[in-house]
Amino acid sequence: MSSGSTPPGERLLEEARRGLVAEHPLADYEFLQGEAPPTVHPALWLQGRLSSVAGLFELAPGFYQLRGFDLSNMHVVEGEEGIVVIDPLITAEAAAAALALYREQRGERPVTGLVYTHSHVDHFGGARGVLDAERAAQVPILAPSGFLHHAVSENVFAGIAMGRRAGYMYGADLPRGPEGQVGAGLGQETSRGTVTLIPPNLEIERTGQSEVVDGVRMSFQLTPGTEAPAEMNIHFPAAKVLCAADNVARSMHNILTLRGALVRDPRIWARYLEQTLELFGEDSEVMFSGHHWPCWGRERIAELLGRQRDLYAYLHDQTLRLLNKGHTGEEIAELIELPPALAAEWDCREFYGSVSHNVKAIYQRYIGWFDGNPARLWQHPPSERARRYVEALGGAEAALERVREAFVAGDYRWAAELADHVVFADPENEAARELQADTLEQLGYGAENATWRNFFLSGARELREGVGGTRMPTAPHDVVANLSVSQLLDAMAIRLDGPRAWDAELRIEWRVSDPDEEHAITVATGVLHHRPGRHDPPAEATLLIDREALNGMLLKTADVAELAASGRLRVDGDGAKLGELLGLLDEPDPGFPIVTP
Ligand SMILES: [Zn+2]
Repeated sequence: MSSGSTPPGERLLEEARRGLVAEHPLADYEFLQGEAPPTVHPALWLQGRLSSVAGLFELAPGFYQLRGFDLSNMHVVEGEEGIVVIDPLITAEAAAAALALYREQRGERPVTGLVYTHSHVDHFGGARGVLDAERAAQVPILAPSGFLHHAVSENVFAGIAMGRRAGYMYGADLPRGPEGQVGAGLGQETSRGTVTLIPPNLEIERTGQSEVVDGVRMSFQLTPGTEAPAEMNIHFPAAKVLCAADNVARSMHNILTLRGALVRDPRIWARYLEQTLELFGEDSEVMFSGHHWPCWGRERIAELLGRQRDLYAYLHDQTLRLLNKGHTGEEIAELIELPPALAAEWDCREFYGSVSHNVKAIYQRYIGWFDGNPARLWQHPPSERARRYVEALGGAEAALERVREAFVAGDYRWAAELADHVVFADPENEAARELQADTLEQLGYGAENATWRNFFLSGARELREGVGGTRMPTAPHDVVANLSVSQLLDAMAIRLDGPRAWDAELRIEWRVSDPDEEHAITVATGVLHHRPGRHDPPAEATLLIDREALNGMLLKTADVAELAASGRLRVDGDGAKLGELLGLLDEPDPGFPIVTP
């Protein structure tokens, strides 16, 4: 694929523009015109152009797509009294702006229902931008079974590290331009603002379940464990419209997103797409997804569903075939080639997921990090290894000379590995940092995958300028407020500084009111245990607090002394014990270095 001026590019651009009612120009991406410059992979350049076609689109009578307000799409279905909104983007501000454009064109229709297709933040975070609290209590809010648990729990354990890495993945700190961020492969960029969550009040429990909201009939297919742990497709039989959530995209998707996550199951993903075809294939004339532009026509929808099914099935089956011949994940990543019939198609290309990192993820899912070779079972950690490599290469200067040779030869993968050793052996070595930054930049310029490009270029930036400031939003108020007390205590347990707590012995009760809950907390042997109920015999100290105050305390939006003064927080018994517990908690580091030790 060479550029937007070639016929396939024009065809894609035409498809991306189809149904456009009102444009929403993306000022930051106006540079994405014409041919790709040498600093951007030509296919990624075109994907950026395609994803920058933004605004309000009519998909079918009464069905509207709002694209380009965020990484994800928001959809509006017109009902009898108002509108049903599907997937209100990441932030309230973005969702409100999208809704405003819709209303500008279609009138001030009230929101009569809200649907979340799955538990990822780019599909629920803007809920309060389309529904105020009063209205939210009056309208049906639909979500797949398990939605709330997964929506809030994703941030509990590894959220801080994921947020830091997501900043790299989406190029949050990169300038927009031919030498910077040109998109995210799945959409252009994530919005910044307030992440919210209104809990659903109607869970979809089974495939085949049908609901009518504001006169709009919807039939559901649950697809848990595909792209998200709680996800569903929606069919609108009257209009022959299919919503494929994030199960279908105009790119290979991620089996393991580079920000970090549990590995997804491509086998289940493929099976559910087969079921989508069976259930709705015959009765769908338009298909829309959580990202990218829609697909029109029954045959083309069936082709797209079939291709995406085959893509994930192929990656899964072939990885396991080669794994069972003794190849490791790193080797399989280089061995697997997509069938030409898939490789030729735009929606199977590697703008967001990649064969390389997806194959390694599948290996990881089944086998884990160890490739079986005992020489790799107990290697030195990166800095120690780096010091020894540099010494073996005859010192930093000699090592950098080899880096320069590899760079000139265009072997950037090797240059990056060698330079990484020099930087990790001595992070103060300016020449090494600069050379590594140049190398990562070249890898970024050559990458078809937007998230690879953003990782490479963010690494280069960090080597030159130090750790940047932007991180993806984590644990906003609505998310914390919807965590169970058990989940909050799980989060506290992973903050306990183990070594400092080796000798601590604590027995504390938490009595939370509104809603009322009691939890017995024990700290011993460096571990925080908790269970519902009380200690027997009673604990040394009891914390009494109402739930809203607890949320405020954890989010640091409420002052502990003020809460105590107003009587919303009280400690009975030995108050020093609670102080001791809080003193044993470690602070996470949301700005840890990535490309230096
Ligand atoms: Zn999404």
